[in-house]
Order: sequence, then structure tokens, then C-alpha cells
Amino acid sequence: MDPELRRQAVDLLDRPMSRGQVKRAGEELDGRPELRRAVVDVARERGIELRGSQSLAGKKLLRHARDRALSAQVRTNPIARDEAFVCAHCGHQVEAHGRTARDHCPRCLRSVHVDIVPGDRAAGCGGVLDPVCVETRGSRLTIHYRCRRCAAARVNRAILDGDDPDDWDLLSALSAGEVLS
Ligand SMILES: [Zn+2]
Ligand SMILES: [Zn+2]
Repeated sequence: MDPELRRQAVDLLDRPMSRGQVKRAGEELDGRPELRRAVVDVARERGIELRGSQSLAGKKLLRHARDRALSAQVRTNPIARDEAFVCAHCGHQVEAHGRTARDHCPRCLRSVHVDIVPGDRAAGCGGVLDPVCVETRGSRLTIHYRCRRCAAARVNRAILDGDDPDDWDLLSALSAGEVLS
């Protein structure tokens, strides 16, 4: 596959986008068959088989591929690790949550790139994950991350309940498109 096409396909699959942006990017795929094929091929490399992809409209194809990539990241045998830790970014002493796995700092929202599948501690990178945007699906709020060290994309679910919930002002700023310092 042409490296530039691959780069564009990976970007389409991984870059945090709003629903509207996914729709527009998908519609553009209809006019770019090579890029469309590259998206299907990159998804397949990741174990995501897009059934009936030949006949799908670009926006549906892209939406399916992105949803599947996201759910693979979130749900493939996650291990619920709910542990206290000191935040690598702001030094906040984060206590275990009690019901939900505490995987990011409630005060600055940063996380650390340690997992491939949630809880497996298999990534071996250790870079700080900076939040780049939030996405709402029904009542669920998902924080999208980019690793400061290796640029990997990750997602965590926002934690809104318990003793030390995520900072609502920071979540609001992220959803308004602000970059957190
Ligand atoms: Zn922090
Ligand atoms: Zn990393």
C-alpha cells in the first residue's frame, strides 16, 4: 500500500472526530476509491472485517470501521484494575474508585500509556496520555487521548460519580474544543 494512502487511512480510523466530521470524511471516500480500499485494508490488518464493504456508502463504511476499532480497544478482555496512584502529570494522589476502574486522574484527566487492552499493562510505553477531546454516546462520555511519547490513540470512559469525579470544567473545555495545558 502506498505509504501516504496508509497514513491517510490510519488518520481516518484513529483521529478523534465528531459525528459530523465522520459523515463528511466518509462522503469524501465515495470519490476516492483507492483511499476507501486503504481504509478497508488497514481495518482488516487490525482484525476488523467489514462485511459487505463493497456496497456500503463511504460514510457508513467509515462509521462502522471506527466504531469497531473503538469497541475493540474498549472491550477486548478488559481487566478492571481499580488502584490508587499518583498522577504522573499533576501529582494528585488518586484514590481507587470502588466500583469503576480508575484509569485516569480526575483533576487533570491525564492517563498513562500502559495498556494495550484495558488493564493488561502490556504496552511498555509509559508516556503520559493527554486528553484531546470528549465524545458523547448516549449517557456515556468518552475521553480520547493521544500519547505524548508515541502518539498512540487511546480512549477512557469519563468517571462522573463517586468521591472524586472527573473535573467537570476540564471536560466542558475539552468538549468545547479547547486544548488543555
Ligand atoms: Zn493529574
Ligand atoms: Zn505511548
